[in-house]
Amino acid sequence: MAIIGIDLGTTNSLACVCQEGRPVLVPNSLGETLTPSVVSVDENGEICVGAVAKERLISHPEASAASFKRYMGTNKVFTLTGNSFTPQELSSFVLRQLKEDAQRFLGEEVTEAVISVPAYFNDNQRYATKEAGKLAGIHVERLVNEPSAAALAASRISGEDEGSYLVFDFGGGTLDVSVVDYFDNIIEIVAVSGDNRLGGDDFDEIIARSFCAHHQMDYEGLDSQKRSSLLRLCEKCKQELSRQDEAELVWEAEDKKMPFNNLVLAGLGQDLFDRISQVVESALRDSARSMEEIDEIVLVGGSSKMPVVALYLQTLLKRRPRIIASPDEVVAMGVGIYAGIKERKEDVKDLVLTDICPFTLGTNVVNYADNDNPVMSAVIERNSILPCSKKAYYTNAYDYQRKIVVGIYQGESFYCNENLKLGAVEMEIMPVSKGEACLEVRFSYDLNGILEVEVMDRQLKQMKRKVLTSESVRLSEEELNRRLEELKAYKMMPCGGIRTKVVLARGERLFAQMTGARRQQVVLVMQKIQQTIVGGNDQEMRRCLKEAQEIFDRLEGL
Ligand code: ADP
Ligand code: MG
Repeated sequence: MAIIGIDLGTTNSLACVCQEGRPVLVPNSLGETLTPSVVSVDENGEICVGAVAKERLISHPEASAASFKRYMGTNKVFTLTGNSFTPQELSSFVLRQLKEDAQRFLGEEVTEAVISVPAYFNDNQRYATKEAGKLAGIHVERLVNEPSAAALAASRISGEDEGSYLVFDFGGGTLDVSVVDYFDNIIEIVAVSGDNRLGGDDFDEIIARSFCAHHQMDYEGLDSQKRSSLLRLCEKCKQELSRQDEAELVWEAEDKKMPFNNLVLAGLGQDLFDRISQVVESALRDSARSMEEIDEIVLVGGSSKMPVVALYLQTLLKRRPRIIASPDEVVAMGVGIYAGIKERKEDVKDLVLTDICPFTLGTNVVNYADNDNPVMSAVIERNSILPCSKKAYYTNAYDYQRKIVVGIYQGESFYCNENLKLGAVEMEIMPVSKGEACLEVRFSYDLNGILEVEVMDRQLKQMKRKVLTSESVRLSEEELNRRLEELKAYKMMPCGGIRTKVVLARGERLFAQMTGARRQQVVLVMQKIQQTIVGGNDQEMRRCLKEAQEIFDRLEGL
């Protein structure tokens, strides 16, 4: 039975298997390696995932959901035409689809998967990801950090030796930059930094804003249908600029166009580049490495395909990034390689992938200027390798103080109140003059996200312990099994005739987006397809779909 690797992305997901020691990406039923991480419930109550669902996101927004990875590990509920789903349930549909694609591709059953997650995912988010696997009927024994997977792919695919990597992962809505060491079979994340509100979507938006400004239109004033239509066109234009230096953005429905080129895009993106540089610099600073100590820059994520981004990085780091494979496939290849190693039970024990603590954990110290606004004192610094145990010493802030409250905070802000409070330990202490008490505070944080805090008064030789786990959003085993049964009732849309479904879904989207004569043309095309479904043979169907696509392309100005 096969083990597959899965990159469960915010925008796109991929599955990868290892064949004869080499990573092979699994094509979906459309023959594509990327499956949009979008879920939609159709009129029959069937679940569709991927390209069809992405079209329905515009034509049937109330029945569709995207970007749910952002909410993993939270209590957010998505309602799709009366059906309620948690983020992990929506993710489980994506996983189910990828699993089915892999089974069809391999011709055997898939029961186990290795899934990649962002390095900064906390314990709740990791737990939710595993739960998504369970709900999809896949055993997920191991999660792998995305930058570790990228480094593994970089080293294995290029056949180069081990080394230090700067992994630049620029996706649809997130930027993650990591410094990863790969030495002696240990893959160690040295530092991570990121901006979870910066991605390819922002480039679509700056293009849209510039287009609107050019035509004296109010971008903010566009209704949501129009805005999503325009953004899709902008994404297409942006992608064209990755292949050629110039592209024309034509918005047929509004009878407006505007030429773009990479130089213009570079100019428009100045603010975004500034934010990129902050993330890159922070990762390098935290890693305490200079660029000379980095062996490779690895480009990951669909947005890294943009020439303006690659060029900017090259100028910033004074080094040419290495493209080992299509950037949006690198993480999947890494998890695929890892799944293969695990399947062959080869050197999986030798290959160690470490986890890090992505945020700072600390306690409060007094702020004499403002008593209500204590200052954060770090105990476990962000990017510490897990498991990790650190001691820090504190004293009393006032004469003859009898009690001390050791707050437990998570975050990077100077003031505790701006960080997340996880708990507190209250202790009686020996009443002595200010500065004479001696408190030892120890934080131990393990791989399962369990934080243990010990506070000891060294004079009284008294100790207090508190164990913090993050189980608030977890389901019990029974609840999980009950939900598993319920979800089984949702049928996945069968993959037969998938091309027809994609064209029909696109037609529905265009119908929703267009008006007047264009809309009428969409109706005619759709009727033709429907007639062919009923009365046509395979060859006629293929021809009809091809024609339909061409007309739709024209209508969309592609
Ligand atoms: P995620 O990791 O967020 O799931 P991806 O790595 O697949 O997503 O990146 C998706 C983003 O990459 C989207 O914003 C998409 O527009 C962008 N993208 C994909 N291909 C290209 C391309 N050829 N040129 C520019 N941007 C691209
Ligand atoms: Mg990704």
